[in-house]
Amino acid sequence: MTAGVYDSANVVREPIELLRDMLEEQFVTHTNRLTELTVYGRLPGHGGYDPDALRVLAAAAREGIADTAQALRRMSEGSYGVCEGCHNDIPLDRLRALPHVPYCVSCQRRQPR
Ligand SMILES: [Zn+2]
Repeated sequence: MTAGVYDSANVVREPIELLRDMLEEQFVTHTNRLTELTVYGRLPGHGGYDPDALRVLAAAAREGIADTAQALRRMSEGSYGVCEGCHNDIPLDRLRALPHVPYCVSCQRRQPR
């Protein structure tokens, strides 16, 4: 066995693997949330939710699912972490905070929304 960083007990995993775990976790969270909201929407009295609030929350969950699914697709295509606006690398700190983002901060600001 050779001595090196990878032999240490505290192996540093590839950041991309950690980000993939985060994205997969977010995907599951959003999916479960949407399922839950869909069930509430069918209940008499909407499970205590206001129907409009329920629609807004379901739309947000759907958007979360789409965002994370797209990020996972970029990961499998190898384009993950590259800004779709300026094609520069998105800083790792930004990806750690928001693993699904397709833009760097300055391009994000330029997006219509
Ligand atoms: Zn950019």
